[in-house]
Amino acid sequence: MSLDAGVVGTDGGHGHAVVIGSGFAGLTAARALAHFMDRVTVIERDWVPRGPGRRPGVPQARHTHSLTAAAQHGLEQLFPGVAGDLAGAGAVRVRMPQDMLVLGPGGWLPRFDSGLSLLSAGRDLIDSALRERLRADPKVAFLPGHEALALEPGRHDTVTGVQVRARDRGAPGGWSERRLIPAEFVVDATGRGSRAPQWLAELGYDMPAETVAGPRDSFATAVFAPPVGHVADWKALLLMPDPGGRARGLLHPVEGGRWSVTLRTADPEQRPTDHAQFLQAAADLRHPLLHDVIEAATALGPVYGCDRTGNRRRHYERLRRWPDQFVVVGDALADLDPAHGQGLTFAVECALVLDRLLAGHGTTVGLGYRLRRALAHQLAPAWQAGPRRRAARDPRPGLRTRLAGRYTARVAAAATTDRAAATWLLERDQALTPRAAALRPGALRAALTGPRATAPAGPPSTTHGPTAPYRRRLAPDPPATATAPGAARTRHTGPPPHHPTAAPAGDRHRP
Ligand SMILES: Cc1cc2nc3c(=O)[nH]c(=O)nc-3n(C[C@H](O)[C@H](O)[C@H](O)COP(=O)(O)OP(=O)(O)OC[C@H]3O[C@@H](n4cnc5c(N)ncnc54)[C@H](O)[C@@H]3O)c2cc1C
Repeated sequence: MSLDAGVVGTDGGHGHAVVIGSGFAGLTAARALAHFMDRVTVIERDWVPRGPGRRPGVPQARHTHSLTAAAQHGLEQLFPGVAGDLAGAGAVRVRMPQDMLVLGPGGWLPRFDSGLSLLSAGRDLIDSALRERLRADPKVAFLPGHEALALEPGRHDTVTGVQVRARDRGAPGGWSERRLIPAEFVVDATGRGSRAPQWLAELGYDMPAETVAGPRDSFATAVFAPPVGHVADWKALLLMPDPGGRARGLLHPVEGGRWSVTLRTADPEQRPTDHAQFLQAAADLRHPLLHDVIEAATALGPVYGCDRTGNRRRHYERLRRWPDQFVVVGDALADLDPAHGQGLTFAVECALVLDRLLAGHGTTVGLGYRLRRALAHQLAPAWQAGPRRRAARDPRPGLRTRLAGRYTARVAAAATTDRAAATWLLERDQALTPRAAALRPGALRAALTGPRATAPAGPPSTTHGPTAPYRRRLAPDPPATATAPGAARTRHTGPPPHHPTAAPAGDRHRP
């Protein structure tokens, strides 16, 4: 299904919809439903902040978030002009790899305009931009401090509402008695902790099969103020793991001129929990650049951790019996490896599918199967990329996996000097490429011919590259070829890397 045709509005007349959860998936689904339904109520267990407030229900909001080009495009269809709102609030557009220093598996990628871009911002800011738009819509109401407990069954396999309880300090246990919120359509957008399988089981339906794929990694994130006078000809850094490795580091600019820095470790035991460990983990990455820039920066707040990530999906599309007028979206449906920044993209895609099918079908009744199938179809490319990565790390790979690994390694090596290969590698990293794209002519040619020239000796940067004053003080670059996973790198012990030439405030990313 093409999601490119723009959202399809109707004049309503279809009753009340309830969206459970006011995270990103809930907000985008509410927008889609508001095109079709008469009223939409968004139920949220937490409070619903005005502005970019933090909530316990979305702990992952502390980690680096960005919107892929696909997510931005989808959001514009749902909330026209929202990218402008975000940019106005300080979100930073990062063209890849033009504005980003990327260390790929085979070495540093050249910087050029590939057409790929990210919108980088704190997750709280992203959610608040959507919330404020919805608040301005008279059809949409938020019901904060309400927890959904169960689905209300109707006749002939339908859902007719949600059982909720409200926070009540005066009540025993802190919650009110349960009550019913009737609805003609219910969306579960409660994130990875979704209880939809249990809710279905309580009503006598089968629980969905679940697939878990890919490694379960850990993430640590800290926010920094760049050093005073920081001068760089880049906005973001990405150090991908070498083949077979998992440690990964990224630095994204976020609102307020700050940096959000996230490190991925394979082992929760190795996840940094304080700033000293964070710096050490950054130093152990394949290249010292990320360590060196944050060493000179000022930490703002603690180091936040996140374990138990990976790829997990629930196969609702396989269930034979299903209550009509109910659907599951976002992380509640599929929880994708955060390293590849696909969760928000998938949530937007879910909302667009909802929008399109409701408008096309003309009623909320009898749409359950088509919706579940369409959402599974939409998930396929990002989902396939997870197992692909898992296969690449299999300690005893089969022939097919070995060949695929060698192919990828050759394209990755060529990516240091070949733009088509570099674009393919970045798309693959963001899980944007379907399987068939592996044999795209540019990638195929790169795999056959290999690198066209010698790989660059260091980051392609006038401010942080091999010829920059900063780089001359560092140890030589490690070789671009793979090293043993987890092998410790030479720690940079030189003087603080940033030359303190004055940079105008608010213009920190310009050279
Ligand atoms: C470390 C990390 C980094 C990430 N980086 C990126 C990135 O760069 N780009 C990207 O696209 N994705 C990223 N993701 C993924 C992204 O965070 C998720 O895909 C996204 O949060 C999913 O949104 P959601 O609305 O489905 O769930 P959530 O954001 O988890 O929202 C669920 C909401 O439901 C509420 N809720 C739960 N249960 C109930 C109930 N019973 N009743 C009422 N309310 C309830 C919760 O309070 C919460 O508000 C990252 C994830 C992690 C962990």
